[in-house]
Amino acid sequence: MMKIYCHAHHKCFKNLCEQCDALKKYADKKLDNCVFGDAKPACSKCQVHCYSPDQRDLILKVMRFAGPKMISKHPILAIRHIFNAFKK
Ligand SMILES: [Zn+2]
Repeated sequence: MMKIYCHAHHKCFKNLCEQCDALKKYADKKLDNCVFGDAKPACSKCQVHCYSPDQRDLILKVMRFAGPKMISKHPILAIRHIFNAFKK
């Protein structure tokens, strides 16, 4: 996800740029600390809004952009992901 977004927006072809890398690490860390562990619902449905509003906006932007692009690459995964992310 992050890669698709970074690739298109920041022209980083191999690695994530600093901004995207930081966002990814932030998301990973939040995921690790998520109180729901493996039973975690999609973050948009989560009752505990652990993301700061700024970071949450960024993540949503990435998902909205990269989501549709994922369909052509990983159809089933993408559909499941989008479905979870936007179901409220
Ligand atoms: Zn980037």
